[in-house]
Amino acid sequence: MAEIDRVLIAGAGPVGLSCALFLTRSGIPVSVFEAENELPEDMRASTFHPATLDVLEDAEVVADLLADGLKCRRWQYRNHETGECAVFDMDVLRERTSHPYRLQCEQFRLTRAIYSRLGDNSLFELQFGTRVTHVTQSDGGVKAEVEGPDGQRTARGSYIIGADGATSRVRKAMGLDFRGEAYPVTSLTVAVRYPFDKQIEGLLSVNYCWTRDSHFSMMQLKDVWRVGFSPKPGQSHQEALQPGQVQARLQEIHPTEDPYEIVHAGAYTIHRRIADSFRSGRMVLAGDAAHLNSPSGGLGMNSGIHDARNLCDKLGAIILEDADESLLDRYSRQRRSIALDEVQVRSDRNYRRHRVKGRRERAEVWDELQRLTGDRRLMTDFLMESSMLRSLEKADLIE
Ligand SMILES: Cc1cc2nc3c(=O)[nH]c(=O)nc-3n(C[C@H](O)[C@H](O)[C@H](O)COP(=O)(O)OP(=O)(O)OC[C@H]3O[C@@H](n4cnc5c(N)ncnc54)[C@H](O)[C@@H]3O)c2cc1C
Repeated sequence: MAEIDRVLIAGAGPVGLSCALFLTRSGIPVSVFEAENELPEDMRASTFHPATLDVLEDAEVVADLLADGLKCRRWQYRNHETGECAVFDMDVLRERTSHPYRLQCEQFRLTRAIYSRLGDNSLFELQFGTRVTHVTQSDGGVKAEVEGPDGQRTARGSYIIGADGATSRVRKAMGLDFRGEAYPVTSLTVAVRYPFDKQIEGLLSVNYCWTRDSHFSMMQLKDVWRVGFSPKPGQSHQEALQPGQVQARLQEIHPTEDPYEIVHAGAYTIHRRIADSFRSGRMVLAGDAAHLNSPSGGLGMNSGIHDARNLCDKLGAIILEDADESLLDRYSRQRRSIALDEVQVRSDRNYRRHRVKGRRERAEVWDELQRLTGDRRLMTDFLMESSMLRSLEKADLIE
């Protein structure tokens, strides 16, 4: 059999390494370039949805994630002062997925798991400290200019996947706009070591909470809890991040005798943006390089991994079975449409639902949540959407 040209992948985040996993498992060699000197360990995604665990398929990697994470079968919206709640039970999805739960697990555990499983695979190479600076293409392949420990050089491959995140150089080389906007309020996330689940009655592993005049989220991971909130009215995010302010905010949520052990506190700006196309010839985009959305509901990384699966199945057909390259246009149509009409719309709705203020507006949202959780058929329908199972079905229907 003739030697297969390498596919180049810019970025070793969850999407780039998922692409590496899918392609090498089909027998296609890859070269991954990662700007950082090691796998980034950032406090971003913490939820894997059922559809993503199904899509990952690789039994070893999924087993690693399950070992590192917490299965959250039930999650809730919660009035923190009264303890009233609206609980979604994902067990209703039992017939539709092999994983009827949200898996609470940091995104860096996925990248670590893939890296260690692919470590000695001869089809896989990953170059750390190596940044893709520019890409050009011809009929026969792509050339990426990369800057690494040994200076600048040119890497050649059959295709390049831009999985290099929000500031993607591959997207810039494709000459594409990244239209959209930033949300006005900076959000904060704090990781704390404290057994909230043992101290607050009725708390589940995923909680979207309201108090009379504020909102916050509480997400349990194996070693820490993540608490997400907005600065108080009139407060800048720099002020809100002062250690005393963070401590005070946590004490408002749950007073303790000793100060909390805070292991991380950070601020992030939320963007809602999308590239005009996910394909230009032999250059393709996936994940944050292609689309950004609010983290509410945990859809960004998940949808990026769905991009990776869809794209790599099509690249596999093109490279191994000589299928027509127009399949990549279908990839772009399918996944761009899902990013725009499903992921951005749904995450924006989650963002607004959680931040709704005013008694009447909140009462309307609360009634709706009670209606959804009180009826098995409505809850199943809601969870098919929020767990992203339906968006996979919808993508398949797009020609
Ligand atoms: C606070 C927060 C919470 C979130 N929670 C969730 C959640 O629960 N669930 C969810 O689904 N999503 C969540 N997200 C979104 C999620 O983090 C992103 O969608 C996800 O990281 C996208 O993965 P990616 O691989 O496309 O990009 P990235 O994770 O950004 O990875 C890109 C990689 O490319 C590298 N790189 C960049 N430029 C270059 C270059 N020129 N050359 C080589 N390498 C390069 C970077 O160093 C990085 O390693 C959250 C986001 C935030 C901010």
